[in-house]
Amino acid sequence: MGRLTALLVVVACCTASADGPRGELVTRDVYLMGTRARLATPDPTRERGLATLATALDVLERAERELSTWRESSAISALNRHPVGVPWHAGPTLCRTFEEVWRWHAASGGAFDPAIGRLLAAWDVHGDGAIPAPPARARASAASGLALLAFDRTKCTLTRQGDVAIDVGAFGKGEALDRIEAALGNVPWMVDLGGQISVGGVGPQEGWTVAIAHPCRRDQPYLHVQLRDGSLATSGGSERDITVDGIRISHIFDPRTGRPASFDGSVSVWHRSGLAADALSTALFVMGPEEGLRWAESRGIAAIYLIPEHGTVRMAVSPAFRNRFGRLQGN
Ligand code: AMP
Ligand code: MG
Repeated sequence: MGRLTALLVVVACCTASADGPRGELVTRDVYLMGTRARLATPDPTRERGLATLATALDVLERAERELSTWRESSAISALNRHPVGVPWHAGPTLCRTFEEVWRWHAASGGAFDPAIGRLLAAWDVHGDGAIPAPPARARASAASGLALLAFDRTKCTLTRQGDVAIDVGAFGKGEALDRIEAALGNVPWMVDLGGQISVGGVGPQEGWTVAIAHPCRRDQPYLHVQLRDGSLATSGGSERDITVDGIRISHIFDPRTGRPASFDGSVSVWHRSGLAADALSTALFVMGPEEGLRWAESRGIAAIYLIPEHGTVRMAVSPAFRNRFGRLQGN
C-alpha cells in the first residue's frame, strides 16, 4: 500500500491524470457529469478492484441521472421547470443535499448560490459566452438567488417563487463524490472527478500524492500535497473562461453583484465533505484572496489561493491548510 505514494494525480481546473504505481493500482477512466473522471483502487486482486470501481461508477451514474441539468429527465431539471408556487417534493437523498446547499449558501454570505441558472444562461456561460443587454441582465438577476426557492425541510419540498433555476456546477461533483464514500465504506479508493479529488477507505499512511495545477497553466503541476482523506476541490478560471468582445467572462459568477467574478487565479479547498469542498472553492473564488482568506481563517477552513502576480505565483494559505498539508513548495 505504501507504494501508492507513487501515484500522481494532477489537479487542474478541469483536467487530471493519475499514474498508478506498477501493477497494484486498478484504474478506470470514464467521461460523465460533463467531465473526465478517473477512478482508482489499490487491490492486488484485479477482479475485486474492478468490482469496487464498478460500484463507484454506478454511484456516479446515478448521481448524474438525478442531478444533471443537461438531462431533461433529471430531478433537478424537473424542479427547474416545476410550476411557480407549487411545492415540488425532493427524495430523502436530495433533501439532504439541499440541506447542505442551503447551509453553505448561508455560511458563505451568498457567495455560493447555485440558484443562478438564469444569470448563467443570460451570459451564456455554458456556451460561447454573451454580454447581455441591461434589460436581459436585470431580468436574469431578478430570477436568480436561493431566496426565490422556499425550502421546507420537514416536508422536503421546494417551492419556486419565481422563474428560478438551479445550476449544479459548483456542488454536483462534490455531492457525487460523497455518495461514493458512503457506498464504498472501508475499501481504499481515489476518484478524480473533473479536477476534484476525493479519497477514502483505509488508505496508505502516506496518502495519495496530488498535484495542484499552476493557476494559469492547467496542465502544469504547481505544488504537491498528500491527501489522506476527504476531498480537495479547485476553482480556477484559466480553462473555462470565455472572452467576448475583449471582455473576460469568468464561468464563476458573483451572485451578490450578478456579474462574473473578477479573480484570475485559483483557489483549492480541502474539506471532509466533497460537497463542502466543492461549494467552498467556488465561494472563495467569488470572494477573492483578500476577503476569502479572512473568511476561511475565521472558520478554520483549509484553503490555498494561487495568485498570478508579476509573472510569478503568490500563495496565500489558511492556517488550517498549512496544518493539514505541512510544508508547501511551489515551483
Ligand atoms: P467550480 O468549478 O466548482 O467552481 O464551479 C463553477 C460552476 O458552478 C460554474 O461553471 C457554474 O456552473 C456554477 N457557478 C458559477 N458561479 C457560481 C456561484 N457563485 N455559486 C454557485 N454556483 C456557481
Ligand atoms: Mg466548486
